[in-house]
Amino acid sequence: MKIIIHGGFFSESETNQETKKAKQEALSAIIGKSYTYLNTHTALETVVYAVSLLEDDPLFNAGLGSQIQSDGQLRLSASLMDGKSQKFSGLINIQNVRNPIQVSEKLLAYDDRVLSGEGALNFARQQGFDFFDPIIPQRQQEYEHKLAQSSRIGTVGCVALDANGDLAAATSTGGKGFEIPCRVSDSATVAGNFANEFAGISCTGVGEDIVSAALAAKIVTRVTDGFSLKNACDKSFEELKVFDGFAGVIGISATGEIYHTDSHPYMVWASFDGSLQVFN
Ligand code: ASP
Repeated sequence: MKIIIHGGFFSESETNQETKKAKQEALSAIIGKSYTYLNTHTALETVVYAVSLLEDDPLFNAGLGSQIQSDGQLRLSASLMDGKSQKFSGLINIQNVRNPIQVSEKLLAYDDRVLSGEGALNFARQQGFDFFDPIIPQRQQEYEHKLAQSSRIGTVGCVALDANGDLAAATSTGGKGFEIPCRVSDSATVAGNFANEFAGISCTGVGEDIVSAALAAKIVTRVTDGFSLKNACDKSFEELKVFDGFAGVIGISATGEIYHTDSHPYMVWASFDGSLQVFN
């Protein structure tokens, strides 16, 4: 059993020791709880559990405390992929729910598995998800001062390998911050989140770069075709350089290889495979 999570990148203006310590502590606590959960649950159930905890923590740009779009509305995107059944589900720009990753989990059982905006919200309400406003005062202030544009507070994601050898990946985001309303994030696409029986990947960074590179799907395909996870990631990151792409990934392969890499410093991550590792 193995698990790795990320909390996106943090803003270069935020790289003070206090923020770093708070993120290290939060990720250490969440990875510990999630590994315990993985002992008695599948990879799919565990990635939903881990990403829900990350969504509930306002230190990260997903769920509660997410960044606000340029029209003052907060819209969330999340997706989930079960490596075993190879089914993907995703929500694009859903409003007023607490845990979009849990709505994504419900959607996995349906034929129509990627929903956006109002349709996504209607589905969530039908499934019993109550009204929840994820805006916190700090994000509102940043929005009012138009600072969100320059801040990078971190999408979240998780990849897990369970006791049966099955993989799953989940990713959740509040987006870039101050973007054109209804801009589509990579996090709810196969570029930002992908898994099959060979590997699982969750991405963070500039969504447009991640989509241009088809990053998660490309890395997983390379592992499927025989690359090690490290080589698949490293080759894909070489290709990002062509257009100076900004991205970070976490991943696990079915052989138990666990890896993370980024094109720029300050991605925050933690992993557990019997021993805890946290970004430094
Ligand atoms: N990838 C996210 C997006 O572009 C943002 C992030 O990862 O920080 O919406």
